[in-house]
Amino acid sequence: MRNTADVVVVGAGWAGLSAAQALSQRGRDVVVVEKSRGPGGRSATRREAGWAFDHGAQYMTADSAPFQEQLSHWRELGLVATWTPRIAVIGPRPDTLGTPRQPNDRTRWVGVPGNNAVLKHLASSQRVLYRHRVDQINRLGDRWQIDVSIDQQTQRWEAKHLILTAPPQQAAALLGHNHEFYAMLTDHPMRPCWTLMLGFRSVQALDWDAAFVNEGPLSWICRQSSKPGRDGEAWVVHASADWSEAHLEDEPTAVAEAMWKAFQQAGRLGGSLPDAHFLHRWRYAQSAQALDVGHLSDPANGLWIAGDWCHGNRVEGAWLSGLEAALSLAD
Ligand SMILES: Cc1cc2nc3c(=O)[nH]c(=O)nc-3n(C[C@H](O)[C@H](O)[C@H](O)COP(=O)(O)OP(=O)(O)OC[C@H]3O[C@@H](n4cnc5c(N)ncnc54)[C@H](O)[C@@H]3O)c2cc1C
Repeated sequence: MRNTADVVVVGAGWAGLSAAQALSQRGRDVVVVEKSRGPGGRSATRREAGWAFDHGAQYMTADSAPFQEQLSHWRELGLVATWTPRIAVIGPRPDTLGTPRQPNDRTRWVGVPGNNAVLKHLASSQRVLYRHRVDQINRLGDRWQIDVSIDQQTQRWEAKHLILTAPPQQAAALLGHNHEFYAMLTDHPMRPCWTLMLGFRSVQALDWDAAFVNEGPLSWICRQSSKPGRDGEAWVVHASADWSEAHLEDEPTAVAEAMWKAFQQAGRLGGSLPDAHFLHRWRYAQSAQALDVGHLSDPANGLWIAGDWCHGNRVEGAWLSGLEAALSLAD
């Protein structure tokens, strides 16, 4: 059997699913190939032992009219809601991107019941192949040959057009060093983030729901149940980009210990240990340099590249980038 599509999209995060939706709406035959078990990428929701953690993106903001309209539409469908947490600011250090962080400076949106809600909704109307990892891509004549692995098996796809939405270093590895975009993608500064997820069986009462932390190892703390539609006492703790970079290859137990201590200090919590904890390392968490190119394209070779890093470094930019790549392809 030949696996063919007009467009293959690599990645079922915001950029990939926004591109796939825009292309399907224009009658294109699209297949999304995703290496994980579900949609979301860096906006996935992790479920463990009864707790649910938004362990990547915490909330969405909207500066552009198209994304504001989308959020209103998704709110009508019950997929997103605004979130008005009590936010503390701990420590004086300014944010590394230079944007002073204020607790109540903007409207914050979250997915309901998890931050992957919209992504699941978008994916449900697309052909998405989960647990399919793209290992290699080759341009042969006017088509892409895309080699995919699923567990121990391999599969070959052919497509006229390809949209890559993996983080830039991963997209570069697929493209290979001969491609004109290779150096730009490889060199684009993406910063890491260690994430500690804490599950408690009893309520951890604090006088805030979330905190920007500007000192020590941490940068953000959030009580998940303060977001609409969640229950269970789950907390997400992010280390700062500087600290994550310095401790990127450390033993996970040492990382968890240091972050737990910092969390206790920040929350002035007593000795109550979490009933469960989980750790995740985002090697390419967020772009350190907000580009505004929208997307990249090499139309002569049927190639488009999209992702948050092409359009700021947040969810809104990822969604816009995927949309812009799709519109350029469909032109
Ligand atoms: C810790 C953290 C906190 C953040 N906080 C916020 C926040 O509060 N607000 C905000 O707006 N943004 C935040 N962000 C950024 C936000 O998560 C991203 O901007 C957005 O999710 C990026 O979407 P994307 O589609 O561009 O990329 P991704 O979400 O990375 O999607 C790429 C997809 O490609 C898949 N993939 C990669 N390689 C392959 C392959 N070879 N084969 C198949 N599939 C592949 C990946 O599995 C992934 O699903 C945060 C990110 C992190 C990590």
